[in-house]
Amino acid sequence: MIQLKNYINGELIAPKTNSYLDNYNPATGKVYSQIPNSDDEDVELAYTAAKEAFKSWSSTPKEKRSYYLIKIADLIEQKLDKLALAESIDNGKPLKLAKTVDIPRAASNFRFYGTGILHYAASAHSMEDDAINYTLKQPVGVAGCISPWNLPLYLFSWKIAPALAAGCTVVAKPSEVTPMTAYLLSEICIEAGLPNGVLNIVHGLGNKVGNAIVSHSGIPLISFTGGTATGKHIAYIAAPMFKKLSLELGGKNPNIIFADCNYEKMLATTLHSSFANQGQICLCGSRIYVERSIYEKFKNDLVSKTKELLVGNPLDDKTKVGAVVSKQHKEKILSYIELAKQEGGIILCGGVEVKLEGEHENGYYISPTIIEGLDYNCRTNQEEIFGPVVTITPFDTDDEALMMANSTMYGLASMVWTENLTRAHKLAKEIHAGIVWINCWLLRDLRTPFGGVKASGVGREGGFEALDFFTEPKNVCIKY
Ligand code: NAD
Repeated sequence: MIQLKNYINGELIAPKTNSYLDNYNPATGKVYSQIPNSDDEDVELAYTAAKEAFKSWSSTPKEKRSYYLIKIADLIEQKLDKLALAESIDNGKPLKLAKTVDIPRAASNFRFYGTGILHYAASAHSMEDDAINYTLKQPVGVAGCISPWNLPLYLFSWKIAPALAAGCTVVAKPSEVTPMTAYLLSEICIEAGLPNGVLNIVHGLGNKVGNAIVSHSGIPLISFTGGTATGKHIAYIAAPMFKKLSLELGGKNPNIIFADCNYEKMLATTLHSSFANQGQICLCGSRIYVERSIYEKFKNDLVSKTKELLVGNPLDDKTKVGAVVSKQHKEKILSYIELAKQEGGIILCGGVEVKLEGEHENGYYISPTIIEGLDYNCRTNQEEIFGPVVTITPFDTDDEALMMANSTMYGLASMVWTENLTRAHKLAKEIHAGIVWINCWLLRDLRTPFGGVKASGVGREGGFEALDFFTEPKNVCIKY
């Protein structure tokens, strides 16, 4: 059985207490590796290494920092098959998805910031009375980066890459539910020759390792992606310490479908935006609002396409829906399906656990589920389920669709399907969300701001916004 190690000061080391946690393969329900059950002593070691490394890394020429990031991107690409397999086994996601989305996007995160830092400029403001201001953008210090389990390496690298590019050193914690590719990343960093202490990866539980990072007085900046409740807790600790905070939190994204849309394109994409990664993408559209004139047709078509999705072994190429990430998460999703029934929802398809055979008989599988007949403001339609579960609801007017779309406490992503340009622009302006996709979903341009409003988060990742986050602007005013 593989026993993972922490990556501290350039070395792979055991946790101080030598205590480990079991790591499950969600496709089989069996323990297949062990991860360090680290605590604040390990975080302190990582912090000390990162603090020391900051002295040189923060003044390393950007071309050199760029070199390391691009080297890491190259190595991720070279090891795509190994990393994708590890991601699929750790998370339960279809191997094909890990190969085509997760791992390539992790490599492009490093490549993007490896090149982006070369083009990151500061500004100058000249004044009429013989003075000039220029702005220095200096790396903040040791950054704390904490990530979730749904897109493990992809989201981990989305934080680490801009932090390192900006000249920060990092103490990072991947999710304890999916630690494997972060561990493989530490091996890659060693192979790339990344200087000791620049990146440190400490494995373990949120309330121990995560908490030690968030409350560490020497770490002035926290970049967190995860659930809204955890984000709230982190803000509660970090805000009085005046830390810089970036919080990417939960979502309950609306997918608004008008009768004038390109129907076939919409249907194919909606199937994907509903159930990709077992619905465990923070950007999935879980509330589908459909203009009444096409509601029945849409309902029949989506249900029949959903029934065709093969639930099965994530390593099998034919599988469209793999395992959900953990037993605990499976139970949470099933409890929401029960709640939906109590709230008057009608299950149109799915709604049950799927029992596979052989070595997968104890895996965590749920059939993709479509529910109708629920009020827009019931709990099922207001709370994040984060599984292969969507609701469908008819609407009559643009205003009604907008009102329902904006009715939750969340505001991460949204989708609008219409060929009417005026309507598309109007809704894009009025929807409460950080991201609006019109006639598409999950199209990604790394230069764009990424993040949510309301309970979906604070701050933006992506593009130069992330480099702004990991640097502190300092104005210098000179009178001549
Ligand atoms: P989570 O909040 O349970 O855990 C996220 C990370 O925080 C993990 O590494 C965990 O160990 C750590 N953590 C837990 N308690 C902590 C504490 N007290 N202090 C510090 N760290 C702590 O979330 P999850 O279940 O891993 O991920 C699913 C959630 O993430 C969903 O709500 C989803 O919407 C959200 N998410 C958001 C985005 C986004 O970009 N907005 C992207 C992906 C996932």
